[in-house]
Amino acid sequence: MPYALDETHDPNRASWIESAQGHSEFPIQNLPLGIFSHGACGPRPGVAIGDSIFDIAAALEADLFTGEARRAAEAAGAGAGALNHLLALDAAPRRALRRRVSSLLAADGPARAQIESMRSRLIHDAAACTLHLPVAIGAYTDFFAGIEHAANGGRRRGQNPPLAPNYKYVPVAYHSRASSIRPAPAQIRRPHGQRLLGDSQVPQFGSCTKLDFELELGIWIGPGNALGEPIPIGCAGAHVAGLGLLNDWSARDIQRWESAPLGPFLSKNFGTTISPWIVTLDALTPFRIAQPPRPAGDPAPLGYLWDDDDQRSGAFDIDLEVLISTEAMRAKGLAAQRLALSNTRHLYWTLAQMVAHHTCGGCNLAAGDLFGSGTISASEPSGYGSMAELSYDGTKPVELASGETRAFLEDGDEIVFRAHARRAGYVSIGFGECRGAVVA
Ligand code: CA
Repeated sequence: MPYALDETHDPNRASWIESAQGHSEFPIQNLPLGIFSHGACGPRPGVAIGDSIFDIAAALEADLFTGEARRAAEAAGAGAGALNHLLALDAAPRRALRRRVSSLLAADGPARAQIESMRSRLIHDAAACTLHLPVAIGAYTDFFAGIEHAANGGRRRGQNPPLAPNYKYVPVAYHSRASSIRPAPAQIRRPHGQRLLGDSQVPQFGSCTKLDFELELGIWIGPGNALGEPIPIGCAGAHVAGLGLLNDWSARDIQRWESAPLGPFLSKNFGTTISPWIVTLDALTPFRIAQPPRPAGDPAPLGYLWDDDDQRSGAFDIDLEVLISTEAMRAKGLAAQRLALSNTRHLYWTLAQMVAHHTCGGCNLAAGDLFGSGTISASEPSGYGSMAELSYDGTKPVELASGETRAFLEDGDEIVFRAHARRAGYVSIGFGECRGAVVA
């Protein structure tokens, strides 16, 4: 069974890092991977633990790893401030590293006294560190697997039925832009481009009037495949190393004008924000669920997209939340306001199906490639994952606690995504924030 639970998931395991106990994001059961810098230290691999960061490079220098865990730690440090070499490894060494870090940080770990004596070397206050992109992203593909979002878009365009005929057969995606992906917290400059204003059929060039967010999972690719060698669905899940949150900022007016017939271009490539920690699929093992059954009448996936194990345990139960904070809200001391609450159960395709489809024609994936899942909206309006859906393309602006309304995003607005995986009998884990602010 590839998705075995082990001692790292034990809900009774506590850490000697005090802030990890009851931490909403990074208890010892999580241990997400990232790249951070601190003081004079350049970008280096680390693991989030409570309000701190465990320094993998320093632990390697202190000779705290052996065997497969050492191989993984060395790979983590081999990428000059990027985790690509670690993600390229098989699951076994990555899991060995997780088990060793968990043991080193465990309150009852055998090496606790030794590790605690090196605390100042190994443990950094996260608030004093800078987080970077966790990998050098070679390629970025954005899927469209959130079926509620896809259907809402079809309804806005007057399509009946709202989903295109290919939707339930093809994990639809487009190749997007890797160069403009930045880690949260990020600033997004309002883009300029061609768009139609009012009823005009002639475009004007100017700043975006319908700036939007899209609530998505970021999917970090592991080992990958050689060109011309598809990844079969049965082993496709093993090619995903971890997950994060991804905001696919979107310029709806530019998108509407430019997208026919080839799809989005400038409306999507001006900036993408990701949460900086890679939550490993090992950490998410307790939160695996069966892929929700397709509604009666939907076609079964074609054979190259069907695997019994993937259907049994290839989906995840992760709550997703969107919050907004406007300039006026901050001036009034108002807390960020929730715009939406959704869940990864609303994905029509599993991660493995995305990988199998992406490679079925021979396209090669490489360690550190990134997928976006597509916007994950719930079926009810309180779970819509974009302003275009929440405001019905601006026709029903959202009312905020400050007395303001929002059809689309305004300069000064901050959008925050959060994600938490919860299951009775396990310690819940979070993804950290994916925060981005719109600037002129
Ligand atoms: Ca998207």
